[in-house]
Amino acid sequence: MPLKIGIPRALLYYYYYPMWKVYFRELGAEVVLSSFSTKGLLDKGLKCAVDEVCLPVKIAYGHVLDLLDKVDMIFMPRLVSVEKHEYICPKFLGFPDMVRCLDKLPPLIDVNINLYRKKWDAHNAVTKVGRLISGNYINIYTAYLRARKIQKIYFRLLHLGLTPDDALAILEDRVKKRPAQEAKEFTVALIGHPYNIYDRHISMNMIGRLSRMGAAVVTAERLPEKTVRSYAARLPKKLFWTLGQRMIGAAFHYLERPDICGIVHVAAFGCGPDSMTGELIERYARAAGMPFLNLTLDEHTGEAGIMTRLEAFLDMVRWRNMAAVGM
Ligand code: SF4
Repeated sequence: MPLKIGIPRALLYYYYYPMWKVYFRELGAEVVLSSFSTKGLLDKGLKCAVDEVCLPVKIAYGHVLDLLDKVDMIFMPRLVSVEKHEYICPKFLGFPDMVRCLDKLPPLIDVNINLYRKKWDAHNAVTKVGRLISGNYINIYTAYLRARKIQKIYFRLLHLGLTPDDALAILEDRVKKRPAQEAKEFTVALIGHPYNIYDRHISMNMIGRLSRMGAAVVTAERLPEKTVRSYAARLPKKLFWTLGQRMIGAAFHYLERPDICGIVHVAAFGCGPDSMTGELIERYARAAGMPFLNLTLDEHTGEAGIMTRLEAFLDMVRWRNMAAVGM
């Protein structure tokens, strides 16, 4: 029986899942994903989570609980830094310790991933994980190369405008072609952490709803790293957080694009980095005369309230566009 490794469908799953899936599979393990987020899964997470954490971490607890009886080990790297001279939010760093007190928790693969000093440290961390499953260094290295290749293809699909779910469906051969993109009245940029905007339960399927309301949606993941970085570098002082850099860089880029008619910023209640990046994006958007909407989500957020605000925002964008052409 292959070793079953659980991966919570939460947090940086939305960036790195394809790579880890291929890596473990190449080493002969079976990857088990937690279920899609639901209210039940969030409620389970809320019962165990410490009060101070943000909504994405609370739901991540639910995903870990969902895996408890299904796997031999849970993959939960201790993410310190994924880019040179930057950090990831401290809650990622502490998450393996937060869940350690859960009953019936299988062993965690909680290797440190800290690329603050050298990007090459990624290789060391990946090798350390591989050694838990295989004693053959050549197999580990080959699996690593294949995983990196898949990750590059995945990012390319995101840059083409696919959501993580659609990109995974293509990578896993569940669909052959990318979904057709319908023409929309206008385009808005949806800026937020990937685990907020792509988790359909947390975001209340914001991308799908905006699309049904007539707006095409672009996100930070649509942009190549180089573009995001060059725009983020315009800030007088560099942000410490990698995800914050992505959001700021994407927002600055979209502020200059004539086809973008508004920016919606999605923040998680209790998120320190979001309170800073949201404020910065709002100030720059107001200075550029770009319609801006800030939505803060937590476990009590009502769907009706969010949808009303989105509808009002899109109406305002529509009127503004009509006024611009003298209608
Ligand atoms: S960046 Fe914010 S939303 Fe993300 S884990 Fe940290 S506190 Fe939570």
